[in-house]
Amino acid sequence: MDADLKDFYQAVVIGAGVAGIYQIKRLTDLGWDAVVLEAGDGLGGTWYWNRYPGARFDSESYTYGYSWATEVLDTWHWREHFSGQPENLRYLETVVETYDLSSRMRFGCRVQSMTWDDADNVWSITLESGVTTTARFVITGIGLLSVPTMPKIDGLDSFSGRAFHTHHWPSEPLDLREQRVAVVGTGATGIQIIGEIQDKVGELTVFQRRPNWVAPLNNDVISETEMIDIRRRYDEIFETCRRTPGAFLHQPDRRGFWTVTPEERIELWDELYDERGFGIWLQNFVEIFIDEEANREFSDYMANRMRQRVNDPKLAEKLIPTDHGFGYQRVPLETNYLEAYNRPNVTLVDVMETPIEQITASGIRTVAHQFEHDVIVFATGFDAITGAFDRIDIRGRDRQQLRQKWRDDPSTFVGILSHGFPNLLMVAGPQSGNASTNFPRGIETGVDWITDLLTHMAAAGHTTVETTVDAEQNWVAHVKHMYEIMLLRKSKGWFTGYNSNVEGHGEGTMRHVVYNGGAPKYQKKLDEIASEGYTELSFG
Ligand code: NAP
Repeated sequence: MDADLKDFYQAVVIGAGVAGIYQIKRLTDLGWDAVVLEAGDGLGGTWYWNRYPGARFDSESYTYGYSWATEVLDTWHWREHFSGQPENLRYLETVVETYDLSSRMRFGCRVQSMTWDDADNVWSITLESGVTTTARFVITGIGLLSVPTMPKIDGLDSFSGRAFHTHHWPSEPLDLREQRVAVVGTGATGIQIIGEIQDKVGELTVFQRRPNWVAPLNNDVISETEMIDIRRRYDEIFETCRRTPGAFLHQPDRRGFWTVTPEERIELWDELYDERGFGIWLQNFVEIFIDEEANREFSDYMANRMRQRVNDPKLAEKLIPTDHGFGYQRVPLETNYLEAYNRPNVTLVDVMETPIEQITASGIRTVAHQFEHDVIVFATGFDAITGAFDRIDIRGRDRQQLRQKWRDDPSTFVGILSHGFPNLLMVAGPQSGNASTNFPRGIETGVDWITDLLTHMAAAGHTTVETTVDAEQNWVAHVKHMYEIMLLRKSKGWFTGYNSNVEGHGEGTMRHVVYNGGAPKYQKKLDEIASEGYTELSFG
């Protein structure tokens, strides 16, 4: 697609997902000459790409929508407490239509490189198509989980059936009835798919490397009456999200794990297990995130709950993690996931025991067996958080490459700026307070802060902004300190920068990619920076 771009914009926003949509709304309201460049052929980001069966929110739907889009809040009926991909995409399309933002968006525009021009104080941007433009500011909304990663397995191209990563699930209907389907990977994505398709396919073979903790989503429909009540309570809902560490409706239990009796703990857990969403994780005792003994007791409880749902005790043990505790990292929420393994058409292959050797023309061969498949689904995750930055050749002052600066570990100030890269502003960048929270709530925080900064600069006549080295180093030290406090540091997953399919991110990796201090603390820091006159930034 040939982009119809001008030579210069005050701001280019990269990505037309949840972040990019809000950012262009704010810039449009300011009267800025700005454009969104989106790689896909449509808007929606995560909800545009991830069309696999079972893809849905793990945030309560009514906490996910934009708090500012009041015209839509007043009319939109979320059909389920945890709404599915088609509805989520329709929601975002409705917002864009309602606020007339699509004329500011250019699709099929994948940014390939951008270089800071110190003489003119602009970013020179080149698309994959070769089209170029310039912008005073570049604001990224390129997603935390937008770069899918495929496993390195011999014979990937030799399979004669259909094979794809979940991120590239075909947009046309795919009839899986009578099909022999393989799912490789049991992260949140694999777990959603398995729960959804188990009774809709011929055979389902799940290739699991490390098992994951799971908890029931407890999703259900939202009636007309309930939706009217939710609409009336939106202010209160968003206010609650502003006050909780995860920016969800769930408030942690602060009674103290060790001050209540074991019976009282079990009473709470029994209640939470039947609650919707992340209650079981985030309404729990805060000690489960920091105290190994407390976490072990709760993990034992969760392991028992998992055992109760799987008929074959040996199989149940294979599904229970032993290398990390429950809730060290974001918990996959599921519907009928564990029950899938009670079905005669579903097989679990433990690839720790019998590793995959090769993809063949007819299926997957492990060291023990050749499995025959019609469809292979790779639910093998993403090059998270920094991956979307790494795939753009971003050159700052003195042509320093961002990818190179962040090779071993990212380094930012509040996840929004990085020294040496003036006028590059990242919504939900590495080390922002976003990843562990309800994404859109954090995204609004980031976009609002960036927009206030731009307004401040315009009023003061500044054309460039950059973080000081000291401010960046202090923030990185604080981010690292939060990792040291949290049990999260002991897990292997995208929160610690681990991905066995990305070079340099495999075994032994420890990357400080997210800020784990919680949403209110992050918001407070951002508010302080602004109210103290942005003293940690240097302007030109
Ligand atoms: P993920 O959590 O990184 O899981 C990837 C899975 O693939 C893991 O089970 C991994 O095993 C496996 N895997 C990777 N390479 C493999 C290989 N070479 N051979 C065998 N197995 C391999 O990715 P994800 O499931 O896409 O989820 C990522 C994040 O997206 C989630 O944490 C969540 O935040 C978000 N998400 C949210 C929702 C929602 O409910 N709204 C749904 C989906 C995703 P190992 O663990 O052994 O590496």
